[in-house]
Amino acid sequence: MNVMANDFNSLIPDTRRFLEQEMKHLIGDNWVKSSKSGSFPVIDPSSGSILTEIPKGTSQDIDEAVQVANATLNDPLWRDMPPASREKLMHRFADLIEGHAEELGQLEALDVGMPSVVGQFVEVGNVIETLRYMAGWPTKLNGKTMDIGEPIPEKRFFAYTKREPVGVVGAIIPWNVPLMIAMWKIAPTLATGCTIVIKPSEVTPLATLRLAELALDAGIPPGVINVVNGLGNEAGQALVEHPLVSKISFTGSVATGKLINKTATDTLKNVTLELGGKSPVIVLDDADLEKASKGISMGIFGNTGQVCVAGSRLYIQRRVFDEAVERISKEARSLKVGPGLHPETKIGPLVSKDHRDKVISYIDAGLKSGAETITGGSVIDGPGYYIEPTVLSNVSQSSKVVQEEIFGPVITAIPFDDLDEAAHLANDTSYGLSSYIWSQNIQRVHQLVPKIRAGQVYVNSTPFPHPAMPMGGYKQSGIGRDLGEEAINHYTEHKSVVIGIN
Ligand code: NAD
Repeated sequence: MNVMANDFNSLIPDTRRFLEQEMKHLIGDNWVKSSKSGSFPVIDPSSGSILTEIPKGTSQDIDEAVQVANATLNDPLWRDMPPASREKLMHRFADLIEGHAEELGQLEALDVGMPSVVGQFVEVGNVIETLRYMAGWPTKLNGKTMDIGEPIPEKRFFAYTKREPVGVVGAIIPWNVPLMIAMWKIAPTLATGCTIVIKPSEVTPLATLRLAELALDAGIPPGVINVVNGLGNEAGQALVEHPLVSKISFTGSVATGKLINKTATDTLKNVTLELGGKSPVIVLDDADLEKASKGISMGIFGNTGQVCVAGSRLYIQRRVFDEAVERISKEARSLKVGPGLHPETKIGPLVSKDHRDKVISYIDAGLKSGAETITGGSVIDGPGYYIEPTVLSNVSQSSKVVQEEIFGPVITAIPFDDLDEAAHLANDTSYGLSSYIWSQNIQRVHQLVPKIRAGQVYVNSTPFPHPAMPMGGYKQSGIGRDLGEEAINHYTEHKSVVIGIN
């Protein structure tokens, strides 16, 4: 099998214009070069060719961006903007993104490798929904009045709480769905009156830069959203260390999350960590196997398995094990692998050569430990970083391929006998991000749901983040939540005010 590279003739003029311009950092309303020379290339994973160069941000660039973000917090234009005006501004930003959805989808296809229609309708669709959901919050950020009685004899008080922005947010973004994750940090920032400095992934920074341009065009005041590109151990670390940053909102790997948490302790920041997963998929013997196999297949192979909530560990009740494995493998074989810009592509390349080599090394380790390949398992010839959707059986629960996040289109299948065994196997990793149950028996579903240690449980469904539903992990999958009211809580401080009235 051989797969081609992206055909640039299909790019719309807006995408071309963006790619042709010099990439910079956004600080306030200035698009600026780095304080020091140095850049890194952005690679098209369908071919390995260089799309553009990105300036390598330094700690000085981060400091400038944080100083501007901090000053903007106290700029009356932003600080005193009525909540309803903030809502209106957020809807205007969402309208503008809607008008540029195709362009943003193409940028994600070029940069990440995902099919551009997935970029346009699924990822950008979520970006718009998140912004509109969060736009409902500014007018509802209320405190409470409390009757605190007479805590001091004969002294009366009026007591209330108020919600205030947490301050400057430092957002650190992974490469797999960069635009969506960036918006998960931007939208609550805008809703709560915070300001933000974003450090995009050095692997896939493009769409976030375009998003920042659109924010200025929408009238978001300069200095509210700032973007500094760069490497994790340089720009990223400087952001986490900066004393004027009040909160770090990080999405990425467990290893980096642990490092960030340690670094942030020095300045006692409010930290939320959205980390990796190794999410179990439990198929009970009463499941609708046709629907389940389609859903499970999209849940692991969508975005080439580079999804934090990908259902990557399959546990199938023994009576239907062979049939379910065969159906899922058939789905895997039917998926068209190709470049993101090709209209028929269902599965794009992996994001980089290094990442493809890592995924292949996991498959090799699985095979060495006795796994059997039901389908896939090989690199696909071509200029890009393609790999076949892969189903492995005969794996042991303790093997690397079952215990560690592969972040590729690889699913392992293990049989089980009863619900307790299914729950035990599902919980038996250090992760706890998402989980899936396929069953038509509501009683069995309800018996299982409380036993699963994970931030999300989807029943008879593939994963889809909804802006109203908190998103985050148990165990080593993270701390805190993105999205929903929970995110608003993480972006606000509660101030208690007590006024003596006699
Ligand atoms: P990564 O941890 O390698 O990098 C993430 C970001 O952290 C990048 O911007 C990187 O530059 C930065 N970084 C690296 N070292 C740093 C340091 N010392 N200080 C500050 N910043 C630093 O992760 P990745 O490979 O980009 O992303 C894939 C991972 O993200 C997977 O584990 C995936 O499961 C996870 N993820 C989680 C969620 C979620 O919501 N839980 C969503 C998407 C991705």
